[in-house]
Amino acid sequence: MRAPAALRVEDIAADGDFVRLASIPGLAVDLRYAGTNNFAGRVLYGGIDCAWIRREAAAGLAAAVAWLAEHAPARRLVVLDALRPQRVQEAIWREFAGTAVEHYFAPPQRGSIHSFGMAVDATLLDAAGREVDMGSGFDEMSLRSHPARQAELLAQGELTPAQVAERETLARALAAGGFAGIDIEWWHFDCGDVEGVRREFARIL
Ligand SMILES: [Zn+2]
Repeated sequence: MRAPAALRVEDIAADGDFVRLASIPGLAVDLRYAGTNNFAGRVLYGGIDCAWIRREAAAGLAAAVAWLAEHAPARRLVVLDALRPQRVQEAIWREFAGTAVEHYFAPPQRGSIHSFGMAVDATLLDAAGREVDMGSGFDEMSLRSHPARQAELLAQGELTPAQVAERETLARALAAGGFAGIDIEWWHFDCGDVEGVRREFARIL
């Protein structure tokens, strides 16, 4: 099978495979790279509308919202990043390649599932709309952000049982929508079979 052609982010509004994040009922959206409250301290999506996601992942987010409504009604899902065009991924890579944090960013040749509109960065809000304490912040590039180290961090007192429980609620809600987490970022989740995504879906430039 031939790989599908890439799409420019400017063209996805006219593409039936993409859904606006704001159209998903019950979901909060706070795209950090569209503002300055992010690891870089500046706008990374200047002039680019990134408030979109592929329809398969949109259905997964709707299922995650429904799971929370049933199992953790005091919590609300907030998306911090979703579609990240390849051009932005490459710009971030140019800035951080060769630094101690480079392993947090996918090299451009391989790219990120975010660039297919099939990954989200997300956390939970409490009933007052505040972000819950996950033990480390979004994009905090430290071992405390690594789900794979959670048991160890808990035993060392680096994370509290409440912080781990909140992370587990987030992961279970997203799992109900077909998303799986990764080892090094508690906030990152890929939707579906990532190798299938790379083979069959268009990359967004
Ligand atoms: Zn991510």
